[in-house]
Amino acid sequence: MNERYDAVILGAGQAGPPLAVRLAQAGRKTAIIERKMVGGTCVNNGCIPTKTLIASARAAHLARRGGDYGVMIDAPIRVDMARVKQRKDAVVDNSVTNLTRWLANIPNLTMISGQARFESSKTVRVGDKLVEAEQFFINVGGRASVPEMPGITDVPYLNNSTMMHVDFLPEHLVIVGGSYIGLEFAQMYRRFGSRVTVIEMGPRVIAREDDDVSAAIQTILEAEGIAFRLNAKCVALAPGGKGVMVQVSCDEEPREIEGSHVLLAVGRVPNTADLGLDKAGVTTDARGYITVDDQLRTNVSGIWALGDVNGRGAFTHTSYNDYEIVAANLLDGESRRVTERIPTYALFIDPPLGRAGMTEKEVRASGRKALVATMPMTRVGRAKERGETQGFMRVLVDAETKRIIGVSLLGIEGDETVHSLLDVMYAGVPYTVIQRAMHIHPTVTELIPTLLGDLKPLA
Ligand SMILES: Cc1cc2nc3c(=O)[nH]c(=O)nc-3n(C[C@H](O)[C@H](O)[C@H](O)COP(=O)(O)OP(=O)(O)OC[C@H]3O[C@@H](n4cnc5c(N)ncnc54)[C@H](O)[C@@H]3O)c2cc1C
Repeated sequence: MNERYDAVILGAGQAGPPLAVRLAQAGRKTAIIERKMVGGTCVNNGCIPTKTLIASARAAHLARRGGDYGVMIDAPIRVDMARVKQRKDAVVDNSVTNLTRWLANIPNLTMISGQARFESSKTVRVGDKLVEAEQFFINVGGRASVPEMPGITDVPYLNNSTMMHVDFLPEHLVIVGGSYIGLEFAQMYRRFGSRVTVIEMGPRVIAREDDDVSAAIQTILEAEGIAFRLNAKCVALAPGGKGVMVQVSCDEEPREIEGSHVLLAVGRVPNTADLGLDKAGVTTDARGYITVDDQLRTNVSGIWALGDVNGRGAFTHTSYNDYEIVAANLLDGESRRVTERIPTYALFIDPPLGRAGMTEKEVRASGRKALVATMPMTRVGRAKERGETQGFMRVLVDAETKRIIGVSLLGIEGDETVHSLLDVMYAGVPYTVIQRAMHIHPTVTELIPTLLGDLKPLA
């Protein structure tokens, strides 16, 4: 059975649905193919559910800290994991329902359920359907990688997707991987009441960040009782003890950590192996990410790749921005490029880390003359009032242009405050514009002008 469209989107992640709607509304006969769950990773087992679970974990944390604020709860705090999961499911279901309803009601747009696989650069097979189109937009995302680790097939392990089904409290959750996803789950489950150990093969957590940022984050998490095992070598899994024995050293004692459950958070891989890309002639890099140019075109004319699968970003906002770039270039006659965007993201532990642009380490490596200012959150009135003074704020400025080139805000509201600096970076104006701005008291952002007043040459 053959079906013909002007445009076909593979995968209903973060870029696919809005792009499908724009194309359909522009009068192009459009189809969107999804093999599993509309909304993809972010909606079903990424951002939305984890941030909903983090909200429950924070409620538990604040309840335990009630006495610090004069709020006395005269009974032990109990977390009902089944209700925590129900709340998470309700938020996710609501998002999926709204997204599905939105797509279903767009004229010119057809939703197709099933696994898509290229048969040529102009055809894709979905079950017994052959779908033809002039243009294809690949938005198939990625999934948790499964490391080739001894014992991996001998024990049940969790990943970000299977964690979504957990409605009980693991007694001791051992998390392999001390990066963004691993650390968010670590704090979340510690606050729910589990014992948590994070195993990291490198010498520090989230190695992409500056050393003092990694160290401060580890200190924050250790203060809540999370154990870390860094420089872990010979990592291997085996059944035993309360569930799983995780080997963390070849020779140093203790060689093993006993956990009730193990969560693997060791990176992501693109969903390209089963896409028939060879039949379409689309090239990938050595890790399977689709190669694209600055406007997200693949090497094959008429085929684009958006979102995590192109390796140009690993976030919902980068995927959505990919959609904006492709839609603007195709439908609005613009010439937008990926390299015009400024890297930005957050680590949603509590307090969060908000990031934009370069780290101090990257600025040093670039060899450019720069200014830097760092301020502890203990100087921020809002943090003192809230009794949450952990972390620090750092801004880096180009010494010649006076433009902001890097921001790391580890502290309350860091994920929001970072945007006031990010937007100044986009405006392309010197930092003095924000330094002279009047901000609202008492907020975290009001300290940004003071922070900028402390700028000194980067030694
Ligand atoms: C635990 C976790 C927490 C995260 N938290 C955040 C966060 O707080 N903020 C943030 O910005 N990012 C976060 N991310 C990252 C974010 O989820 C991803 O960057 C984002 O979802 C990428 O979207 P995408 O558009 O590339 O595709 P995806 O959302 O991955 O969707 C791809 C879709 O394609 C479908 N598909 C795959 N292959 C085929 C095929 N052959 N045929 C048909 N359909 C197919 C899949 O089923 C899926 O629905 C998190 C990720 C994880 C894992």
